[in-house]
Amino acid sequence: MKIIMLGAPGAGKGTHAKGIVEKYHIPTISTGDILRQNIKEGTELGKRAKGYMDAGELVPDELVCDLVVDRLEKDDCKDGYILDGFPRTIPQAEALTEALKEKGMAIDYALDIEMEDQAIIDRMSGRRVCAKCGATFHTVNIPPKVEGVCDNCGGELQLRDDDQPETVKKRLGVYHEQTAPLIEYYKGQGILHEIDGTLGIEGVAKAIAAVIDK
Ligand code: AMP
Repeated sequence: MKIIMLGAPGAGKGTHAKGIVEKYHIPTISTGDILRQNIKEGTELGKRAKGYMDAGELVPDELVCDLVVDRLEKDDCKDGYILDGFPRTIPQAEALTEALKEKGMAIDYALDIEMEDQAIIDRMSGRRVCAKCGATFHTVNIPPKVEGVCDNCGGELQLRDDDQPETVKKRLGVYHEQTAPLIEYYKGQGILHEIDGTLGIEGVAKAIAAVIDK
């Protein structure tokens, strides 16, 4: 089962991908996580990506396309995977379609988690990420047991640089301009499913299950 999570930044792609992982035991490949890990490790890729990410812009297609295609070759992807945050542009989607086609494969489902911009801005201002293990919390929706402290590892919870309100607005602009056209692209391939992102974690999980368990 090969799934793409679409939707604006903050619509809950990562959260809902986690639910699918637990149920279907396939890995999530998050380009945002891979890039942040590279920044943390100070790799060449991390150095090249950081400026774009801090500014709320997309990193150039050539930095992410090969990275994802190589990752999909790994053994843990043989029964499927969830792509979270990739593709984000039409050229990325085309590169993915081509790379899969060469192997006689294709994406099964593109799930578009839909939410209004204002709801996303409100939601992202409460998002907190563990500086140590990367776990995600929310001051209102998924509060940690102790304020500011990660439930999993005790690390410090922080507001990500690119979750600052001004950067969120910039990222939403980038989403509408460069990523939203993917909705039509996958509709054209007959694999797009629209999911109401306001239903809450359980409601969205049910809506997703209704699509992929069919
Ligand atoms: P995310 O955690 O998915 O919201 O990604 C955080 C940031 O990483 C984005 O704002 C982009 O700067 C960068 N990024 C992640 N995935 C991609 C991608 N597929 N194409 C270009 N930039 C990306």
